[in-house]
Amino acid sequence: MKGIFPTEKFKRLETPFYYYDTNLLRQTLRTINEEVGKHERFEVHYAVKANANPKVLNIICQAGLGADCVSGGEIEASVRAGFPSSKIVYAGVGKSDWEINLGLELGILAFNVESIPELEIINELAAKKGTVARVAFRINPNVGAHTHANITTGLAENKFGIAMRDMEEVINHAAELKNVEFKGLHFHIGSQILEMDDFKALCNRINDLQDQLDKHHIIVESINVGGGLGIDYNHPNRIPVPDFQAYFDTYARFLKLRPYQTLHFELGRAVVAQCGSLITRTLYVKQGDFKQFAIVDAGMTDLIRPALYNAYHKIENISSDEPLETYDVVGPICESSDVFAKAIDLNKTHRGDIIAIRSAGAYGEIMASGYNCRRLPKGYITEEL
Ligand SMILES: *Cc1c(COP(=O)(O)O)cnc(C)c1O
Repeated sequence: MKGIFPTEKFKRLETPFYYYDTNLLRQTLRTINEEVGKHERFEVHYAVKANANPKVLNIICQAGLGADCVSGGEIEASVRAGFPSSKIVYAGVGKSDWEINLGLELGILAFNVESIPELEIINELAAKKGTVARVAFRINPNVGAHTHANITTGLAENKFGIAMRDMEEVINHAAELKNVEFKGLHFHIGSQILEMDDFKALCNRINDLQDQLDKHHIIVESINVGGGLGIDYNHPNRIPVPDFQAYFDTYARFLKLRPYQTLHFELGRAVVAQCGSLITRTLYVKQGDFKQFAIVDAGMTDLIRPALYNAYHKIENISSDEPLETYDVVGPICESSDVFAKAIDLNKTHRGDIIAIRSAGAYGEIMASGYNCRRLPKGYITEEL
């Protein structure tokens, strides 16, 4: 198990840092391409917000995926990594003018529009440039997902998307505007979803909406079902690659795609989470009254998911085979929430041991902050060590 990490090489590096196992990343991408290849007119975009490390992005780009961006900065990062603008889509509730202009200048594949005021601004800015923006409407399908409340996005109470009852009005409105072209519908119900029934519920909802649009002879060229496929945080070694077969099969079985339609997916976490680990060192072992603390040199500034979502990450001492002991693994930040895990078993640890915090490739490095004037963690890929 420990053999999967180049621990001796890690010892020569300053901690904390992110390590990306590019063999696993490439294997994951191959699996995606194999499974997608079994279905006609399925296309996968990578949700850049999960991890925009340039080296990681470049590998994903080379595998042929498109890029799903949620900011102008992500569009720039995608272009730098090599993604052609014809494979870039741009979503987000609050697109500013420079971001829209950037997308227009590049001629990206589509803007995923989340409100009528936004549609009008895109039309206005496109008119100024004498161009036509391809748009898809993000519809809030009011479909719940069995995941953490902070990462469900498809309920009526969430800020995202356009309400279903307004869908036709918005599409008709777009038809009246000269500088936008309606291309498709976009959905995204949340993240870290492991129940295929949640995706099935989305399919059923989309089927209903499509029937409604057919009655009014509205042509939708593309359906974008977002991302959200979860990973196994408990078993990063046993289940390193998510079940993409079950995921794509669910859509193939339950979504009634029209013969002229393409189906887009925007996967983030499922692509990159398992290949990344946050590598840190034990600084001190402190005996409390009731427990012992392993104080490590990584903190919530490097990986905020445990503090923010109470997320579980498997933690391993990869430089020791000593018997297991129970620790709270905590960071150096001046916040009580700066805890990676409570009462977990680790091989007995000493100052200087290398600790791997697993499944941290998604929403890890990209969410790092400089709070406490901390340096941002570096990111290394296998080939660099
Ligand atoms: C975050 C996001 C995704 C990716 O979600 P994952 O759970 O990482 O797959 C896809 N689409 C949109 C619109 C998003 O906001």
